[in-house]
Amino acid sequence: METSRAAARTVAGVDIGGTKVTFILLSGGAIAYRVVLPYAARSSREFSELILKGLGDLRLRASEAGTAIMGTGLGCAGMVDQKRGVLLFPPNMPGVRNVALADIVSKATSTPAYLENDANCALFAEWISGVAVGRRNVVMFAVGTGVGGALIVDGHLHIGRHGFAGEIGHLPMVEQGLPCGCGRHGCLETIASGSGIERYVKSALARGSKSLMTIEDAESARTIAEFAHNGDLLAQQAFKRAARYLGRAAAALINTLDPDMVVLGGGVAESGLLMDEMKSVAQQHSLPLLFEGIEFAMAHYRNDAGAVGAALLADQLLKGRPVYSM
Ligand SMILES: [Zn+2]
Repeated sequence: METSRAAARTVAGVDIGGTKVTFILLSGGAIAYRVVLPYAARSSREFSELILKGLGDLRLRASEAGTAIMGTGLGCAGMVDQKRGVLLFPPNMPGVRNVALADIVSKATSTPAYLENDANCALFAEWISGVAVGRRNVVMFAVGTGVGGALIVDGHLHIGRHGFAGEIGHLPMVEQGLPCGCGRHGCLETIASGSGIERYVKSALARGSKSLMTIEDAESARTIAEFAHNGDLLAQQAFKRAARYLGRAAAALINTLDPDMVVLGGGVAESGLLMDEMKSVAQQHSLPLLFEGIEFAMAHYRNDAGAVGAALLADQLLKGRPVYSM
């Protein structure tokens, strides 16, 4: 924990997920305070109250430290309307729809608030102060329970026409594949996410594949990763398969966007079992000239990526920096 005194700018960052909400104070670029609340909201109203509760705690801490929060960045999974600051449709948060969160927070704190998708926040953190500093074209894969994605194109966070760009997890990879949370079939996420890896192992075990894993072990991608590290062939195969599809998806994006760098983040990627195979398959399917000199890097930020990125986003927007290409 680092507490910078003096007049360092302090901004708040919030990462809202379906199981927990992380609140941080970022002061002089370092995390000065962090609090994590369990996610518990059954309606849009309870949802807003939860966010304001955590922010109230941050405000108290800031004032104890003799500083004031200049603004708040809010990162949330799912579809967000950045321009209006409205959270449209967060997955895994039943009862929460169309929340004008930026307005609600801005009114309650009397300072500006900005809303962005959590994967975009994670890439923003890498771009401003992580592994992708100074890059003009970056593709990020965030492999956790699902597969998130984000893009820096020509030196700007690329959000597209509706603000939804970068939904890499829903690249269609398999014809007549497994059903995806988005309502379609065969998306990258159905194979290459933590849930996809678990599903693959469970169905292989049910078919009698040889492994030391039990069905219970297969409930957790983290446990499967441990078995893979200990030499279990089925566990290794599950990660390898996920990595191959990530590699194909990376090649599609490399051939489309000609990026400087591909960043791989997320809890499942931290197993260390995805990068090598992903990169090698990406190379096989990329046009050689586009692959030349490209860098693949593991994300610098881990659990705090979303909250740090949200805070940095607020900081940059407060300074009037051109974050978006519009
Ligand atoms: Zn999908």
